Amino acid sequence: MADDGTDPARGLLFPAAEKVQTPPSAYARVALNRPLRCEFTYAVPQALAGAVRPGVRVAVPFGSRRLIGVVVALEEECDLDGRRLRAVGDVLDPEPIVDAGLLELSRWFADYYACSWGQALAAVLPGSLKREGGRRRVRVVGVVEGVGEAELAEVADRYPKQHRLLRTLLEIGEPIEVRAVTRRLKISEHPCRSLERRGWVTIERVVSAPDPLLSPGPRRKKPESLTGEQEVAVGALVGRLEAAEYGTYLLQGVTGSGKTEVYLRVIERALELGRGAIVLVPEIALTPQTVSWFRSRFGEVAILHSGMTDAQRLDMWTKARSGQARVVVGARSAIFAPVPDLGVIVVDEEHEPSFKQESAPRYHARDVAVVRARSAGALCVLGSATPSLESWSNAREGRYERLALTERVSGRSMPAIEIVDMRREKPDRTGPKLFSRRLRTLLEETLERGKQAILFLNRRGFAPVLWCRECNESVRCRQCDVTLTFHRRIGRAVCHCCCEEVAPPKACPACTAPALHYLGGGSERVESALAAFLPKARLARMDSDTMLRREDYERTLEAFGKGELDVLVGTQMIAKGLDFPDVVLVGIVAADSALHLPDFRAAERTYQLLAQVSGRAGRGADEGRIVVQTSTPDHPAIQRAARNDYEGFCDQEAALRGELGYPPHARLIRVVFEDEDGARAGEAAGRCAAGLSACTQAHGGTVLGPAPAPIAMLRGRHRRHLLLKLPARGSDADAAATARGFLIRFALESPRTRVLIDVDPVSML
Ligand code: ADP
Ligand code: ZN
Repeated sequence: MADDGTDPARGLLFPAAEKVQTPPSAYARVALNRPLRCEFTYAVPQALAGAVRPGVRVAVPFGSRRLIGVVVALEEECDLDGRRLRAVGDVLDPEPIVDAGLLELSRWFADYYACSWGQALAAVLPGSLKREGGRRRVRVVGVVEGVGEAELAEVADRYPKQHRLLRTLLEIGEPIEVRAVTRRLKISEHPCRSLERRGWVTIERVVSAPDPLLSPGPRRKKPESLTGEQEVAVGALVGRLEAAEYGTYLLQGVTGSGKTEVYLRVIERALELGRGAIVLVPEIALTPQTVSWFRSRFGEVAILHSGMTDAQRLDMWTKARSGQARVVVGARSAIFAPVPDLGVIVVDEEHEPSFKQESAPRYHARDVAVVRARSAGALCVLGSATPSLESWSNAREGRYERLALTERVSGRSMPAIEIVDMRREKPDRTGPKLFSRRLRTLLEETLERGKQAILFLNRRGFAPVLWCRECNESVRCRQCDVTLTFHRRIGRAVCHCCCEEVAPPKACPACTAPALHYLGGGSERVESALAAFLPKARLARMDSDTMLRREDYERTLEAFGKGELDVLVGTQMIAKGLDFPDVVLVGIVAADSALHLPDFRAAERTYQLLAQVSGRAGRGADEGRIVVQTSTPDHPAIQRAARNDYEGFCDQEAALRGELGYPPHARLIRVVFEDEDGARAGEAAGRCAAGLSACTQAHGGTVLGPAPAPIAMLRGRHRRHLLLKLPARGSDADAAATARGFLIRFALESPRTRVLIDVDPVSML
């Protein structure tokens, strides 16, 4: 029981602070955004009778606070003593804002992902609806004229967070939303206020501007006819749509096979039938390019992405709910868009890890999509060139229907992939070997022909490791168990986990030997090596260090599209959705970087990444070439990718997973224990493992661990984890429910150790 006299499970207060004077008209079950497992019962005063309905938001007393919750049920009777119940304070919506379908979905969500119904609803609702008096204004921060290097130097050593913030603001060069910049730098708002007190920045409240993505972008004209394979796919999907029945289809189509056109045709038909659509795309693919394809076909399209302000999101939400926009295109959270009479859900690039939310509640938008489609009687289309092994095996076992697009629309063959064994390349004098002889030759050739190239590297910064030859130590973050990456432009060593940064030590911090070696290469180093090697080439680097604003990203892509740039160097950001006909060469600088992660999906990810990046070449009239640089040229993921043999890869990989008992052959729940006190984290992990084991063993559950997590320390907290393996499916549907129930209780009863529950985990770090 909480110290303020509230029984958190029931919303009762002893003694009652605001007793309901007359008998209540009814009792409302209210879901609050708190980690507790149940909903809370409040009395509905006579004055609010009729206004309190399932799906409306209400303000209710909770302890000494006032919280916003969503009414999930109304009951006439209550087994609690009605006179001691607290009453609903206010009703915030004249009409339910969460319809029955979304209420039901959020309830399933809470059960499945082991969170409270209120937390699930919080994931469904846009931010401003979670507070009273939704906000139209946002705070933006800008640097005062004349502030620059001198001020930066002043805070460089003593106030690292203010330094980082000021530097970033100077780089951005124009006012930016406070929340956007603090979130990016992983800092609180304190440094921002400190800078304001110094008189270096100003913070203003402004009316939220419309989303820049709403401005018109390039159009894509509707093709006259479909290819044979597209025809078959559209036929099957439209047939199911017209029957108004649920069905999930896996649209497996190689890059350039025209999957988007299939989505567009199906959505067109859905609209004709008076139904709406949701299209999920990976955050990064949410470019004006993508958006305008949809907009030029359907007119009013609502966009939802993480970079939007609360006010913008609310606008979109309202447009979708009122039916003004019948199509919603967005990243992960758009799966909860309140589209009435939903006909189709499309998940493009369904294998993308970014569909999984990595903070609580840890849901997978693709899986939520399937569940939502089923309960709405809608069509769910999962599209990918390289489906996740989970979806692939669902299709193989007949739970999803498979549609294949095996040929590119252009009729061109898939680009030729060359594997270059980097172990055979002589090391560079000046640093790590970044480009093989073969890649150099092809780069030169491409430029001579006036064509374009893309170089991909899955790592930002200059050098990922500062290493001491004397003692073999590397410089590590003080807070996290990772090495610091040197970023040359800002001259600092940065932790990619917590964003902390330090001036790079001149001498080894461990043994004081005088020089550190800068090992490995990141995108910054690739860019500078490229500039040295091809001095005349026009280069741009795209990673989250250079692309501080969405507009930077768009501007660079536009310049590349117009042929004003020759080579684009980039990370993940350039792997997706880009469609530039003059790109004839793609170089994958280090194909192995993802292979060595401690993750059972490492091979799958590597294949997917290679296929995706390769898909950027040869989209126009010219043949494309792909160079894959690797130190493990015989690895199956690399070999199969070079032969474009995804089926073969999946067969082999699925067999391997079966032997190891990993998904898709089993289901996983990962639990992470975080605590400043390492011993306490260890103790909690041990106790949890024993308890879980005891309650799931009979159902075929096995607990692996506990063990230190691969990132054993994060922001000063020790981390341990365990994995619970459960049979994929079968008689024991209860096993998962039992485990989840146990874990929720365990988490609530361990207030000092943070217990993170991750159902169907994607990240294993
Ligand atoms: P994917 O998403 O499968 O990689 P896209 O949908 O981007 O492929 O299509 C590749 C290219 O082919 C695009 O430029 C698109 O406009 C074009 N395209 C798609 N379908 C057709 C078609 N039936 N006729 C002509 N061009 C098409
Ligand atoms: Zn760190």
